[in-house]
Amino acid sequence: MHLADAPEPSLDEVEDGRGVLVKVIRVGVDGTDREINDAEYGAAPEGFDYLVIGHEGFGEVLEAGPKAPASLRPGTLVVAMVRRPGSSPYDRIGRQDMTTDEVYYERGINLLHGFLTERYVDDATYIVPLPHSLREVGVLLEPLSISEKGLNQAHEIQRRLKIWKPKRAAVLGAGSIGLLCTLALRLRGVAVTCFSKRKPPYLNSRLVEELGAVYVSSEETTLAETGAEHGPFDLIFEATGFSPLAFEAAEVLAKNGVLVLASVTGGDRTVEIPSDKINQGFVLGNKVMVGTVNASRDDFDCGVADLIRAEAYYPGWLGKLLTTPIDGLDDYEEMLRHLTEDKEAVKVFVEIG
Ligand code: BGC
Ligand code: ZN
Repeated sequence: MHLADAPEPSLDEVEDGRGVLVKVIRVGVDGTDREINDAEYGAAPEGFDYLVIGHEGFGEVLEAGPKAPASLRPGTLVVAMVRRPGSSPYDRIGRQDMTTDEVYYERGINLLHGFLTERYVDDATYIVPLPHSLREVGVLLEPLSISEKGLNQAHEIQRRLKIWKPKRAAVLGAGSIGLLCTLALRLRGVAVTCFSKRKPPYLNSRLVEELGAVYVSSEETTLAETGAEHGPFDLIFEATGFSPLAFEAAEVLAKNGVLVLASVTGGDRTVEIPSDKINQGFVLGNKVMVGTVNASRDDFDCGVADLIRAEAYYPGWLGKLLTTPIDGLDDYEEMLRHLTEDKEAVKVFVEIG
């Protein structure tokens, strides 16, 4: 990672007067940024020998083209979506998060520059406005959109059951995505058990409990025991990054349940699983396992609504996730250090504007 001078973005990079120039205020970073820096993931845009990272952007509109919607005016707080369309039918209907293309384009991750910069320009189509009341926590919208998509997919799939309404859910992992997923489920009145590695008490376990959810450590209990005590789980959301857990989750999923897999596991781990048992459980229990990546415009909009509701029902909770501010772009080494070594950090983010 290094600091570079990039060309000043300009509104006419976007066709048809739909360009929006955004002043970046804050950018969150996560495991994906660490993997990019370790050269395990991501790629620079064509014609560049560097990639501007940062896909959890938050900023303020400086200037909007004549064809940008009235909801995006100078001063509007905004978050830009991450993925841009390729050519599959899904991309063409605005569902590039569901692309079947081999190559996908993600700002700050793959083949497109991101938001860890002072200003960027984008098409109004991909820019989501937020109310000023979300000034302090809006940087959490992109990670929240990942949880929203997983939950929205689960509900869409479960319409097959006509009367499905999840009562009990398990969220695996108490990182940013797991915590935000726990929040979204609690806002929907679901009883949540969050299962993660570290022994409580620590900040993340307290944050889970502040939502009225249960925290369980894998150092103290197995997932099977957790299921016996707090399940059966109608919905399980996997966000640990530890793929073997997906198959343990498959075993504890309730009949008619849905298991949502959201960890982008880049490694090549292999593991032995009780395949007959899992397969039979899925057959006799009409269960579903589904993968989910990225998020659609609707998922971002659901995220905005949930951020507003969270501030109303759990005031101050979102702000507690913002544990680790980094002062400016110069301090990227400090940022990386927190991202790789700081076990107490929930969300590392860079203050820019
Ligand atoms: C981002 C997603 C992206 C995924 C895969 C995650 O870190 O939040 O928007 O789709 O990585 O690249
Ligand atoms: Zn991310």
